[in-house]
Amino acid sequence: MKAVSVILLYFAVAVVCSHDHFDSSPSCGYRAPDVAAIQAMAHRERHLQASTPSPRALFRCEACRGGSRFRTIDTYIHVIQMMNRTGHLPDAVLEESIQVTNELLLSTGFQLKVVSTKRITNDVWYLSESQSDEEMDMGHQLKQGGLDTLNIYYKAAIVDGDRVCGYANLADDAVYWPEDDGVVIDMRCATNKTILAHEFGHWMNLLHTFDGGCFPGDLVDDTNGQAMPMRYLSDECPDPLPDTCPDAGFDPLDNIMDYAPSGCGDIFTPGQVQRMQNAWRNIRRA
Ligand SMILES: [Zn+2]
Repeated sequence: MKAVSVILLYFAVAVVCSHDHFDSSPSCGYRAPDVAAIQAMAHRERHLQASTPSPRALFRCEACRGGSRFRTIDTYIHVIQMMNRTGHLPDAVLEESIQVTNELLLSTGFQLKVVSTKRITNDVWYLSESQSDEEMDMGHQLKQGGLDTLNIYYKAAIVDGDRVCGYANLADDAVYWPEDDGVVIDMRCATNKTILAHEFGHWMNLLHTFDGGCFPGDLVDDTNGQAMPMRYLSDECPDPLPDTCPDAGFDPLDNIMDYAPSGCGDIFTPGQVQRMQNAWRNIRRA
């Protein structure tokens, strides 16, 4: 009965979402690994954890040396706009986005520190698709810093012909394609309050809470299993919560790595924070 009501109230969306909900929950077009790839990730991570000291202790120590509770991430903002000014974003919008993102990141130990904001007029780059030659050319010419530096590109975010709210690569993938490392936010989602924090989560190796389905899940112990994402027609949190994985508890709609409306909450769990800190220590800062 519960499953029937869930289907009546909501309908599932694919990982690459359509473009008609720019002001509600984030629609993200990052290319999620398939279940076999997630299982391979789990295997690698178990091996790594067994051979390294406690990550929590290491991170605490690093923070102490920095004299701050937070790890600041040098952040470069690139606003790509067209000759006709499509894509232009005022400074106030960009500053607000960083501010609300940093508030959402307070629990993670990370904060974004903007080093520079540049505006570039280039129609080809603005309309470039994810992983296209044109987008790679953009990254090669604009990207700043190494794996420990965040590059944010505001432009049209297009994945396989669909306009999405944003996308990013996982930290794991940045190792293989460092010159393409970064976050893309669609300029129409620049005022969305959660999309940048959500993409930052991917950049720090977080999967969607539903990416691995009920098993193997998202490789985080304290997020309930979730078989699929849902699309919501309002910003209110559904009651009762959906429960798409039997015996795994209600779907974690309060999680920022889900697509649920902000009315459900926008949290990172301690397990996700741990995974982000592992990505920082083992990949981005290594
Ligand atoms: Zn996402």
